[in-house]
Amino acid sequence: MFQESFEELRRKASACTLCPLSGTRARAVFGEGPENAPVMLVGEAPGATEDRTGSPFTGRSGKLLTALLDGEGLPREKIFITNMVKCRPPENRLPAKGELAACRPFLAAQVARLRPRLLLSVGNVPTRDFLSSREGITTLRGRFHTCLWQGIPLTVRPLFHPSYLLRNRSFAEGTPGHQTVRDIREILRFLMEAIPGF
Ligand code: SF4
Repeated sequence: MFQESFEELRRKASACTLCPLSGTRARAVFGEGPENAPVMLVGEAPGATEDRTGSPFTGRSGKLLTALLDGEGLPREKIFITNMVKCRPPENRLPAKGELAACRPFLAAQVARLRPRLLLSVGNVPTRDFLSSREGITTLRGRFHTCLWQGIPLTVRPLFHPSYLLRNRSFAEGTPGHQTVRDIREILRFLMEAIPGF
């Protein structure tokens, strides 16, 4: 695991050539948010907008997630946001096993430094990785999980990926959109109980 500061790690990711994604990225997307954030959000990989801006979750689906979090009183400024891999996979495909493995030291260093009180895993890829599970997000969402990831004890709450919500735009009772709003409310309640003054 890397031992450097976030600034050094950010520089290292920008110059990293440890996996083939370095050959197609415009910019590495290291992550953003307070370096003492009690809550961390981890998605799958940067998309086209993120590749251009260098900021995570800034495309259409990122904007939807930000609006949902904000709308329930959990502003993204309170969260450290990143992805499993720091460079965009071509055509927005899912990151391959080897790419996840190559990039894991960056994520492990971020998690080890932040030691978040709660980690939000967004979509199947991070949820399966953190929970060492082959189950899908539909089965794993809706509750808090405790796990040991890379030797770090974590409480993890899975969320549907916002790109899935964009494809299923209803927020009627029982839909993924409705379930996500309920998840965010439970997350906020958890954080308010766990962290005085949150
Ligand atoms: S995805 Fe991670 S391991 Fe691959 S080149 Fe980018 S920073 Fe390096």
